[in-house]
This record gives sequence, C-alpha cells and structure tokens, in this order.
Amino acid sequence: MYEGVVQDLIDELGRLPGIGPKSAQRIAFYILASDPDDIERLAQVLLTIKEKVRFCDICGNVSEQEQCRVCRDPRRDLTVICVVEESKDVVAIERTREFKGRYHVLGGAINPIEGIGPNELRIPQLLRRLADGAVTEVILATDPNLEGEATAAYLARLLTPMGLIVSRPASGLPVGGDLEYADEVTLGRAFSGRRRLSD
Ligand SMILES: [Zn+2]
Repeated sequence: MYEGVVQDLIDELGRLPGIGPKSAQRIAFYILASDPDDIERLAQVLLTIKEKVRFCDICGNVSEQEQCRVCRDPRRDLTVICVVEESKDVVAIERTREFKGRYHVLGGAINPIEGIGPNELRIPQLLRRLADGAVTEVILATDPNLEGEATAAYLARLLTPMGLIVSRPASGLPVGGDLEYADEVTLGRAFSGRRRLSD
C-alpha cells in the first residue's frame, strides 16, 4: 500500500501481538513524525534487549544473568515452586509479597488451536527441576481463563501422582482475565487462600 520502507515498517509492527493493521499504520506515521533522537533511543533499546536479556537457566524468567534475581536470592524457599505463564506474572506475584518460593515460567499456556502443546512449553524443564525431590509443593498460577485452566488441570494430573502438594490460587481473580491485571490485594488473597488440588 505504501512505498518501500514505510510499508516494511507497517508490516513489521503488524506482526507484534495485539497490533492490527490500523494500529500498525498509526504507529508507523507516529514514528515518521517523531524526533529522530527519540526513535534512535527506541531502536537502541530494541537491539540491546536481544543482546543482553536472556531467560533464566533455572526458571525461564527474563534475566540479564544466567540466573534471574529470584533464583539467585538465597532467602527464597526452595521447597515451593509457583508455575506461571509469563515473566510478567512473576512481577505481578512479587508485588504481592505473599510468595517466598521460586517460580517456573512456562512461556505460555496449552492451546491446541494454536498448536501449543505441553512440549512447546517449559513443562519438560519443570519435570527435571522436580526430579530430585527437593520441591514439595507446586502452585499452579496460570491465568484464570480457558487455556490457563486447561494447563493447570494438565499439570495437576501430571504432578499429583509424584506425591507433590499441588494447589491453585483461590477464586476471586477476575475470570477470563490475565493474572497481571489482578490488583495486588486480590492476587495476594488468592495466593494465601489457595486451594489444594492433590489430596
Ligand atoms: Zn530464575
């Protein structure tokens, strides 16, 4: 529709999650009209993030080192793992200060329509972490929507026979929503009142 690089920019922006063709076009023209210094800063951050930021070797959280801040912290309780979909959920749960264990970031949720099965997520890595028996409780804090519930149910079936205490944050979280949108108090309460799925 547009010439050369303008269309390239619209196409690239349109590949980002949640950005439709109209938004892509609006952002492209915003960038065109912006101060070159602002755009240079944006471009630099985009390059630096791929260079410097990686995923924690242990839990899969974003990290600038081999292990993330939570996994490096010697005060964390090594017997509990909280399973979440994305790194942004770690941030949301950390804000509540209710959880003292470590995390495991799956990288999404089971979604057969989009071809995302257990092996596309960091579930094999979770099983490896649980193999030495040091962890006794797993909290399944996937999002309270269809995919998140399906993922929690799948993991509960997998982990309960391993003799682990498996729990899920209590209801009260906005159903169908994203964990990150729950306010701190609600999320904190859901955590302390988590219900046990294993017996
Ligand atoms: Zn970590």
